[in-house]
Amino acid sequence: MRVLYVASEAVPFAKTGGLADVVGALPKFVRQLGHEAVVVLPKYRGVKARKALLPSLTIPLGNSMKFCAIHESEPVEDVRFFLVDYPDYYEREELYRHAGHDYPDNAERFALLSLAALEFAKRAPLPPEVIHCNDWQTALVPVYLKTLYRNDPFFEKTKTLLTIHNLAYQGVFPRSVMTRLGLPLELYNTEQMEFYGNVNLLKSGIVFADKLSTVSEKYSREIRTAEFGCGLEGVLQKRAADLTGILNGVDYHQWNPEQDPWLIANYSAEDLQGKQQCKIDLLHQFGIQDSQERPLIGIISRMADQKGFDLLHAVAGTMVQEGFSMVVLGTGEERYTRFFLSLQEKYPAYVGAKITYDDWLAHKIEAGADLFLMPSRFEPCGLNQIYSLKYGTVPLVRATGGLDDTIQDFSQSPNGTGFKFDRYAPDELLATARRALEVYRTPSRWKALVRNGMKRDFSWQRSAQRYAELYESLV
Ligand code: ADP
Repeated sequence: MRVLYVASEAVPFAKTGGLADVVGALPKFVRQLGHEAVVVLPKYRGVKARKALLPSLTIPLGNSMKFCAIHESEPVEDVRFFLVDYPDYYEREELYRHAGHDYPDNAERFALLSLAALEFAKRAPLPPEVIHCNDWQTALVPVYLKTLYRNDPFFEKTKTLLTIHNLAYQGVFPRSVMTRLGLPLELYNTEQMEFYGNVNLLKSGIVFADKLSTVSEKYSREIRTAEFGCGLEGVLQKRAADLTGILNGVDYHQWNPEQDPWLIANYSAEDLQGKQQCKIDLLHQFGIQDSQERPLIGIISRMADQKGFDLLHAVAGTMVQEGFSMVVLGTGEERYTRFFLSLQEKYPAYVGAKITYDDWLAHKIEAGADLFLMPSRFEPCGLNQIYSLKYGTVPLVRATGGLDDTIQDFSQSPNGTGFKFDRYAPDELLATARRALEVYRTPSRWKALVRNGMKRDFSWQRSAQRYAELYESLV
């Protein structure tokens, strides 16, 4: 099969979250199954590319013509990445927003990406059989295919899959955007693109895509309920027969303590010695001196309500008083960044916080921490808890979405891999942390728990196989 991926981010080119990890990895593994896989992305500031492959591609967007170029990057392990070059839209400080505000022309920016991907596809001798779109930024691909391109024989057999990586981000814009996107106003109705007086791009993709998927089984069920559906539960219920949950995999070339080049020492489930050295190194990185004996909690996260930071805000101080140390790496809402900086100030011997985005440090935290905390309110898949398993860092999570699908509670089974709580409440988080502390104090039990997690396999092979089956069901 020929599969074309369209996305707004992918490792190693641009990343703000888990979407980039998925788009950076999945095509490689789909290729290994014998299919063709190419990726189209925007050429953001700093993204390196070879000379333009298509120096001039004319894209009609609304009432204007956009002249962009398509560059090819160096291939990444056999997968070809094509970059849409339109500096006016993509040469910016950040991907989607700056100084706390979304870019006002985001609808046009990502409509151009979607259209450029289709026009680029048309320059190939054969059409893609599947276009795999991701999140609201590329949700217009199925809309354009079924409207503007409806009579284009080139795409006659092309099918679309839209993967929802996070339903909370929908791409909502005023009605006036319809003309700027070149879409007929008939589509502005409750059954198609309209959403409470605005245009909702994710909803539109959900309506128009041939199949839908999301990134864990549990989340695929949750999003059909009012609690998790973010207003789209009705539309998703209607499309339930076409909605699948496929858990994200992990690229163990990048996330593996046995060969991670960023660690001070490598280690494995059989020989855990290096992990203690990683802990000492991590404490040193955060300027914490006296905490070697205390269980060290790691947090790497966008600091947003979704990630359970209101719970942490309520109990992190008590957790430190009760015996934990904590290192936090993240960016996001100011009330949370300020909270952790003040916690660090209050307990400099036990708490370290860095308000930045840093891949290198993220690897060090995965390796050096004893526990990894993700008390999310909702979590489509979550990657860090899966990385943590591999690094022998025990996840403490809320039982939602992918967190629930990937972690088994050690208190309930000797094969368990972490600690989980159900009710979204600070006292539940605290009680679960106390359970973890108790196990930590019996080293033989703790070691068994660590090894249970390290033996789990969440490699991409299995998930890629499931995607390939889904593509096959489409064509
Ligand atoms: P989400 O996509 O909702 O932010 P995921 O758990 O799916 O959450 O993926 C988050 C990804 O981003 C992980 O690879 C994680 O390591 C990374 N990440 C998040 N914040 C930071 C940060 N401040 N520094 C480095 N990596 C980060």
